[in-house]
Amino acid sequence: MLLSRVLPSNITLLPTFSNARAAPLRYRHVLAGGAITVPVRRRFAMTIQAREGSPVIDIKPQPLKLLDRRTKLKIAVIGFGNFGQFLARTFAAQGHEILAYSRTDYSDTARSLGVAFFDDQHDLCEQQPDVVLLSTSILSAEAVLRSLPIQRLRRSTLFVDVLSVKEFPRNLFLQLLPPDFDILCTHPMFGPESGKHGWAGLPFAYDKVRIGDSDDRVERCRAFLEIFDREGCRMVEMSCAEHDETAAEIQFLTHTIGRVLAKLDLKSTPINTKGYETLLNLVQNTCSDSYELYNGLFIYNKNSTELIEKLDGALDTTKKELFERLHGIFRKQLFEGSARISVGGGN
Ligand code: NAP
Repeated sequence: MLLSRVLPSNITLLPTFSNARAAPLRYRHVLAGGAITVPVRRRFAMTIQAREGSPVIDIKPQPLKLLDRRTKLKIAVIGFGNFGQFLARTFAAQGHEILAYSRTDYSDTARSLGVAFFDDQHDLCEQQPDVVLLSTSILSAEAVLRSLPIQRLRRSTLFVDVLSVKEFPRNLFLQLLPPDFDILCTHPMFGPESGKHGWAGLPFAYDKVRIGDSDDRVERCRAFLEIFDREGCRMVEMSCAEHDETAAEIQFLTHTIGRVLAKLDLKSTPINTKGYETLLNLVQNTCSDSYELYNGLFIYNKNSTELIEKLDGALDTTKKELFERLHGIFRKQLFEGSARISVGGGN
């Protein structure tokens, strides 16, 4: 909708320069007792001024969330496994057109989700999607990306990844994609288990690694991010390096503890405490993800090696503290005879 078309004839628009980063926004203003809502871009922030002496009104930019307009995207999901399907369900429910490709034939599942499944990457790329979303395992990402016939895509296609590590796909995209392609690296910090009741309040980390200046490219990136914003995700913009540093602690540590506990084969009992229930849930949450995912978190995040060493050291220190105390008690009893103690069947 053109702003000038909805304004009274005595009102004129004066574009004013703004230093804010370009992002489409909704501006709401009351004119002559009625409300109008108009989408304009932040960098063209408007001053509304009456031609015949009415007061000057400045329209201030509003946050991204207030956007009213909905851009429908054609999104190609590459890697239609556990997580790719989980995302596609919500993308489709929001009215976006979803295409998918995977090495496994998921055509039945795709049909049930309203997704067009392609068993040939060339056919998929010839559909010229707006967005190509890489959702393969971390370990296979490079091989999959190298095998994509990107020459069949439009030159300005937006590439997005959802890998649980970020520096690795960022470098891969920068290295393998021609400079015309846009790049957005993201990590929805939830999965089919933790996000099964909705995405509200769950963190979504992203880094706009390379987004062209033109309005349509900025708008496409915004429209993609808005999918998650609309579901109520907590949108966190951070660099890929910053993500990996933080994620090693919060994600790799969580998965490692979950997998260590799984080796203990913990069982639910009639006297479960809340804490123990938390441990059982952790095992369930982490072990429902593939081992390949966990392995990728270790191999492709350089911060994970240091973290697992620290964890090992912390377990050793804790054991040492416990046994030193125990030895202290034994020694006291042996040499000072303060109490009798039963060791190895004696009295
Ligand atoms: P995953 O085991 O990490 O990846 C499975 C996907 O990778 C499937 O689509 C699979 O395709 C594909 N794949 C594996 N090896 C392949 C190969 N050699 N060649 C081609 N494709 C291959 O499990 P996931 O949970 O679906 O995760 C997908 C991505 O999302 C990962 O990068 C993960 O880090 C990220 N992620 C996952 C979660 C989560 O909670 N699960 C959350 C955030 C981000 P086929 O099924 O066709 O074999």
